[in-house]
Amino acid sequence: MLNQLTISELTAKLARRDISARQATQACLDQIARVDGSIHAFISYNAADALAQADAADKAIAAGTTHAQKPLLGVPIAIKDVLAVKGQPLNCASKILGNFTSTYDATAIEKLKAAGAIVFGRCNMDEFAMGSSTENSAFGVTRNPWDVTRIPGGSSGGSAAAVAADECIASLGTDTGGSIRQPAALCGCVGMKPTYGRISRYGLVAFASSLDQIGPFTKDVRDAAILLGAMSGVDPRDSTSVAQPVPDYTQALTGDIRGLKIGLPKEYMIGGLDAEVKAAVDAAVKKYQELGAEIVEISLPHTDYAVAVYYIIATAEASANLARFDGIRYGARVEGADPIELYSKTRGAGFGDEVKRRIILGTYVLSSGYHDAYYLQAQKVRTLIRNDFLKAFEKVDAIVTPTTPTAAFKIGEKSGDPLQMYLSDIFTISCNIAGICGISIPCGFTKNPKLPIGLQLLGKPFGEETMLKLAHAYEQATPWHREKPPL
Ligand code: GLN
Repeated sequence: MLNQLTISELTAKLARRDISARQATQACLDQIARVDGSIHAFISYNAADALAQADAADKAIAAGTTHAQKPLLGVPIAIKDVLAVKGQPLNCASKILGNFTSTYDATAIEKLKAAGAIVFGRCNMDEFAMGSSTENSAFGVTRNPWDVTRIPGGSSGGSAAAVAADECIASLGTDTGGSIRQPAALCGCVGMKPTYGRISRYGLVAFASSLDQIGPFTKDVRDAAILLGAMSGVDPRDSTSVAQPVPDYTQALTGDIRGLKIGLPKEYMIGGLDAEVKAAVDAAVKKYQELGAEIVEISLPHTDYAVAVYYIIATAEASANLARFDGIRYGARVEGADPIELYSKTRGAGFGDEVKRRIILGTYVLSSGYHDAYYLQAQKVRTLIRNDFLKAFEKVDAIVTPTTPTAAFKIGEKSGDPLQMYLSDIFTISCNIAGICGISIPCGFTKNPKLPIGLQLLGKPFGEETMLKLAHAYEQATPWHREKPPL
């Protein structure tokens, strides 16, 4: 089935004119019609627009445009509802944006379009990317394609479920504390958070600006390398994007990882780590040794503080970033007798509970009297966490950990207990705090029920090539990424 193809398989077929982009796009739309009633990966999508983009791609192919010129020509890619796509709705899964429509493309979207991609659909997410289960969406929960009574992870749960259920060829998400890697692990696909500054954040609605990065969800590691290459690069519209050369990341996928050193942090084998997850990660480490990599025990002593630091810095930044949703400039408005009443009524009605909790926490840690004790202290510990990684990377080329402590949990299981929910990101958060890159790849399944398990690889700042090389070598030596959910 065409909707099951990877980017590299699909573009090979398109280049040979075996199939058309319209057929591939129609196959994705048919799959959405068949399964999305039970998955709800999409908040909305415009089928006519997707097919029109597909026809334009077919025309370009017929006129002689090659995939060397436009590597994503004719590839349908779904987008998390936090990225601006000109002319499409942008809600961040929140009521507060009303019927807002983007007036411009995010830089990452502009680059995908320039590479020929068919950009379609608004993938469901936790409101403003705050959450780990996609239960915090104002548009209803997304369900895990492997077991529809379970969460797909979050906040990019819709993007992960859409790829896992073959409703698109690939998708985009964003990752502030794990929101790409965690849902990728729980849905059994590949999800990558690039180094901070690798991809421009222009046109990404900000949650925590010093942590947010855009990244791909794909069916294999090669596709992640392709999308990373297509989206990376410095952008004058995002001053935190970095002018680091953009290599052809697929060149790194040689399969030869002999002599590379992989760090195994002793702090990551924590209590609360599920026995089946631990067994799968242990087996993956063994596989790496068989493939010729050297495993080195390392220490990241400040890991214990990562979740606490994250929930101070992320909420502080969120409280500032979300101040702009005031009922005046964007989206929904609830009228009031004066501006203050208008603001508070609009924000009271427009934001969900978790977003309000974050704004209140963030305002508190920044308030005079508490700023030094919480925010400033967290910034200092952030530096210690980053230094732990930089020190470890003097000895190793990459670091391996589980992506999540458990496989997908039940819908409703943790939604009443924010602290339990926050702890589900324990392995992913420090990567954002340190600004390094990370990827989750499938590394097995739990037995009963059968649920995907993810392996996380962490790479040096701008060390995506080595990280992808290691991820790809493992993937090619194991069967996990080829398994499909029982839909
Ligand atoms: N789950 C984390 C949170 O709730 C991370 C979210 C994210 O990466 N966007 O903040």
